[in-house]
Amino acid sequence: MMNEKKHVVIIGAGVGGTATAARLSRQGFQVTVIEKNVYLGGRCSLLHQGDFRFDQGPSLYLMPKVFDELFADLDERIEDHLELLRCENNYKVHFHDGDLIQLSSDLARMKTEIQRIEGILGFGRFLDFLKEAHVHYTEGTPIAIKKNYASIWDLIQWRMSPYDAPAVYSLLQYTEFTDGIWYLLGGFNKVLQALETIATDKYGARFIYNTTATKINTKDRQMTGVTLETGQINQLDVHNIFLAESYQESFDKIFQHHSLPSQPSFYVNFPSRIDPTAAPPDKDAVIVLVPIGHMKDDDQKDYGELVRRARSMVLDVIHRRLGIQQFEDWIEHEMVNDPSTWQDVTGRYDNLYFVGASTHPGTGVPIVLAGSKLTSDQVCRGFDRKPLPRKLEEQKVEEDNNSFHPLVIFLLPLFFSLYFFTACLQVMNIKS
Ligand SMILES: Cc1cc2nc3c(=O)[nH]c(=O)nc-3n(C[C@H](O)[C@H](O)[C@H](O)COP(=O)(O)OP(=O)(O)OC[C@H]3O[C@@H](n4cnc5c(N)ncnc54)[C@H](O)[C@@H]3O)c2cc1C
Repeated sequence: MMNEKKHVVIIGAGVGGTATAARLSRQGFQVTVIEKNVYLGGRCSLLHQGDFRFDQGPSLYLMPKVFDELFADLDERIEDHLELLRCENNYKVHFHDGDLIQLSSDLARMKTEIQRIEGILGFGRFLDFLKEAHVHYTEGTPIAIKKNYASIWDLIQWRMSPYDAPAVYSLLQYTEFTDGIWYLLGGFNKVLQALETIATDKYGARFIYNTTATKINTKDRQMTGVTLETGQINQLDVHNIFLAESYQESFDKIFQHHSLPSQPSFYVNFPSRIDPTAAPPDKDAVIVLVPIGHMKDDDQKDYGELVRRARSMVLDVIHRRLGIQQFEDWIEHEMVNDPSTWQDVTGRYDNLYFVGASTHPGTGVPIVLAGSKLTSDQVCRGFDRKPLPRKLEEQKVEEDNNSFHPLVIFLLPLFFSLYFFTACLQVMNIKS
């Protein structure tokens, strides 16, 4: 029966899709990856301008053990594929008054720097911090990657705003000091290139580019296939973000109360402004996204009421800020998806799996890579297969090196989301 290859279709050749393609093809599945772009990588792509090269997304290679693990899982040695350079300083922090601190994973450098700022006893306090953080970081390690979804889900409830949990966030600093921040020679896309080569050349996966998946076909509780459209890819440049005045309050509402901020920031997209097929002539198709906290198991929220409030706030902001009074009168058709709708959609099919930044455990390349293992294992279980053991003995990594503290699994995604959201806000503030 093992020879009868089950077909797995993966939509998207970002790090989540590509790592999962490599893992599942190694497990003996026939894997096809559909990617709408003509290139590999998604957010981990490269940009070229003249003789210059830029990473489009990630540049911080954090948590190297997660990457080691991935290649070991594929029976490969990471050093045969990637060349990593250790950065002497992790990074420099520039303060508003011109002062700066250089953070490093080199203990001698850190000692000099901390004593410069905090005096002779400062370094001892730093060591105390590392000792305590080490316990927090390593204590629950075997749980983090290997536990099933239900129990991990419980931990997601810990999500907190950085305003409330500076100590918890400091665990990220711990990993930076103890594991360092690395630079990947050739850019982050090299990881993806290596994974694609292993997936295709060694394990027979197929990557199809320049092809958009337009529909996931389903029957009863099964997905039966994916409809493709090799159409043109629109440059979506009709995006609008409306920022709330009360920035911290909106975090508190989302992260602490899992609810709707009283003044939400929201996103409005007019696809028809660039794609006339999205709406009849002289009309617009409009999509509005309003962030809200996630659903809890015992969720009692009245989503109908929250939707009514969100709708009225959006209309009010459009009225006040753009001077458009008749916006509501212009609406001909309206559809709403609230968290309960998404729960219905995602829970409906037995053989449809999610991987990547917006799914469990979250965003950030190491976290997405950890997610690719969870998803691959889930697919194997879904087909009554036991994940194959590794072949290269020397690739075995000790149990407590394998994974990382559950808090970190949830903090890194949060860190990336907040970091980029904050960066986005800052850029917009500067511009306005
Ligand atoms: C500016 C920036 C900087 C970052 N810096 C860091 C960092 O320093 N370190 C770090 O660890 N993380 C960083 N991140 C986060 C990291 O890049 C992401 O978490 C990760 O790359 C997400 O991978 P993914 O596979 O989930 O999604 P994506 O990379 O978005 O991949 C999804 C892929 O699916 C394709 N696709 C979507 N829909 C379809 C369809 N219908 N048909 C066919 N194909 C489709 C897309 O074209 C895309 O290639 C950064 C992100 C950004 C944006």
